Amino acid sequence: LNRRLAEFGTTIFAEMSALALSTGSINLGQGFPDTDGPEEVREAAVRALRDGRGNQYPPGPGIPELRTAIAAHQQRRYGLSYDPDTEVLVTAGATEAIAAALLALVEPGDEVVALEPYYDSYAASIAMAGGTRVPVTLRPHDGSFRLDLDELRAAVTGRTRLLLINTPHNPTGTVLTRAELAAIAELAVERDLLVVTDEVYEHLVFDDAVHLPLASFPGMRERTVTIGSAGKTFSFTGWKVGWVTAVPELVSAVRSVKQFLTYVSSGPFQYAVAEALALPDAYFEEFRRSMLARRDILAQGLTEAGFEVFRPAGTYFITTDIRPLGEKDGFAFCRSLPDRAGVVAIPNAVFYDDREAGAPFVRFAFCKREDVLREAAERLRAM
Ligand code: PMP
Ligand code: GLN
Repeated sequence: LNRRLAEFGTTIFAEMSALALSTGSINLGQGFPDTDGPEEVREAAVRALRDGRGNQYPPGPGIPELRTAIAAHQQRRYGLSYDPDTEVLVTAGATEAIAAALLALVEPGDEVVALEPYYDSYAASIAMAGGTRVPVTLRPHDGSFRLDLDELRAAVTGRTRLLLINTPHNPTGTVLTRAELAAIAELAVERDLLVVTDEVYEHLVFDDAVHLPLASFPGMRERTVTIGSAGKTFSFTGWKVGWVTAVPELVSAVRSVKQFLTYVSSGPFQYAVAEALALPDAYFEEFRRSMLARRDILAQGLTEAGFEVFRPAGTYFITTDIRPLGEKDGFAFCRSLPDRAGVVAIPNAVFYDDREAGAPFVRFAFCKREDVLREAAERLRAM
């Protein structure tokens, strides 16, 4: 592995999913649902396969049906209007969208300001692009992890090329507020920065939280690359269909890179996702509600087991503090958890440059069946 990537051996998700398998533990580590997405969407994929739609290289930017559906979704949900032909790109999951956007927009030596804890692929993608990551740490405040806007402003230098934002935020479950997003937007405009915003959990917001796309703030449409994922929104993480929406210059830059990463994205699944995006609002509401019920089951279980729980306003992850259990090292805790309780979780330290700051935090995924969550909670209580 070259020096740029030497620190990124195996992702924590692969390591912890393997541990879950080898120990027969309940896997609340890697974030993937244990129930597949809607039957009719699966049927749509089968139909496409059978009818020979997408079995050969689909168009580079994605099939027109899907690009149109993505644009219609942004319009319907957020009133954002994107031209399906020039302002939408289909990618191999959000992961490729993130990598391609950073490879397209970052020059070697550029600084990329990212919220910490950060999803692990951000650090690797910044490194692949030859950029320097500059973390701005979200810190616990009244039960949730918050962004300090002064710290964000101070992180921007003459070398900053772009802000990498994620809301709803993995792993903390924080949903950035209107005021926070407005401040980020003002900063981006004032310092003339590009913004890549990972909004893959856009449909998973709870209680009073609302998801607001950063691209909808003044001055942002022309500088923002927005990323979404069918893996998250429709519970098909194995399909690897994601997308980017942005102005033509930005989409075209990302597309140039995508051509040489994967060339195109998997064909038949694009037809299915195009149908999925046109599902009635009731689908999205039911999906959200079912995750909310699961959040509550796991949050209660973790609280009863003695963890400090940061109740997430979004995503399907709960971050906990293990110090009330007399523990302080999340890595050691997660490595021992399969033996102690038959449960697998993720040490948040892997999402920090400042591993000390992340040490006491551990993430549990709740995108699992309710009976599985109840069993996991029982095991953790008995630990
Ligand atoms: N961004 C975030 C914040 C994620 O949590 C994930 C995956 N869980 C991704 C991107 C990657 O999404 P995809 O599976 O579509 O590549
Ligand atoms: N994004 C998922 C998570 O945070 C995992 C996806 C992956 O393993 N790359 O758990």
